[in-house]
Amino acid sequence: MNTTSEMPSGPSVAPTSVRVDGARLWRSLMDLAQLGATPRGGVRRLALTDIDRQARDLVVGWLRETDAEIEVDAAGNIFATRHGRSDAAAVVLTGSHIDTQPSGGKFDGNYGVLAGLEVLRTLKDADIVTENPVGVAIWTNEEGSRFVPVMGGSGAFAGVFTLEHLLRQRDGDGITFGEALERIGYAGTAPVGKRRLDAYFEAHIEQGPVLEREDKVIGVVTGALGLRWYDCIWSGQDAHAGPTPMEARRDALRGASRMVEAVHALAVRHAPDGRGTVGFMHVGPNSRNVIPGLVKMTCDIRMTRISLPWTASSATPLRLSPMTFALNAPCNRSTTSQRRVSTLAASTRFAPRPEHLATRIARWSAAPAMTRSMLHAWRPLR
Ligand SMILES: [Zn+2]
Repeated sequence: MNTTSEMPSGPSVAPTSVRVDGARLWRSLMDLAQLGATPRGGVRRLALTDIDRQARDLVVGWLRETDAEIEVDAAGNIFATRHGRSDAAAVVLTGSHIDTQPSGGKFDGNYGVLAGLEVLRTLKDADIVTENPVGVAIWTNEEGSRFVPVMGGSGAFAGVFTLEHLLRQRDGDGITFGEALERIGYAGTAPVGKRRLDAYFEAHIEQGPVLEREDKVIGVVTGALGLRWYDCIWSGQDAHAGPTPMEARRDALRGASRMVEAVHALAVRHAPDGRGTVGFMHVGPNSRNVIPGLVKMTCDIRMTRISLPWTASSATPLRLSPMTFALNAPCNRSTTSQRRVSTLAASTRFAPRPEHLATRIARWSAAPAMTRSMLHAWRPLR
């Protein structure tokens, strides 16, 4: 991107003298954080809810004030574009997301969007005309908390999955992505993807503790971990906690608990880049004096490259061959040299392979009878 001071309408501004207004950026971050604010200083702003609509309206209003042109695509992604000297030139795009996790923070995603807004504000204030158009994107449902898949809007944009696939995904209440998008008034008409981008940049707060621990102000992302999500359902037998002898139990939570440990251990074995998380669990009937007959849980597994086989061995108390099988897929690492969002998005996701599900279950059948009968379903998501 080149800046220029030669436009007849603008004053002469040396690019080096242009600085963003940090105080203004901070105020905008704090204002946006009011929408969905939680008691301990965080934000709960799930995708395509009323709070998300309010936040979109607020930020879009700010973007319009910079004279940016607003477009919304059919996935609800918002694009604010400030014209350049040549509108035929491809857009230099930045941005992020403003949806959050249920216990999210003020900055994750929001900073990337508002940093882009601050760039547009600064360019306008200095009356700078750039060579290429400069844009800010707000991607829909990046967090994947309400709807799976995660990074939904950008994934559809990048062609990792189709718009139709995205729109028919349902939240926990059975509401589809498409219905929720219509309801908040952000089902746009612009085509998804097919935008000419010169480059895409994203500023993001570090979601982990490493920079702060090492007392560093800023870092550059050198890669993204490959990600797989699983839904896992254990079915055992509800029974009374008192009369049922220990050897007669089919305790679904006991099986699930072993998998929690196994997921953790698997990630640790692939240190330093392995990650394994069980973040959701529903225990049924969830009564203190009833043996759990049903557990639904999720597994979030992230790796750079996995060169198992981790075959079930007799030393493993609970054989987890379905997980092993699932992890045999290589995970590619994306690098900063890949500037375009499509490349980045595509390299950090995996298409689900439903045809392999039968193989997973077949492998599972080699597990001990008790656990085999309890693992009811093992469904790969993303
Ligand atoms: Zn984020």
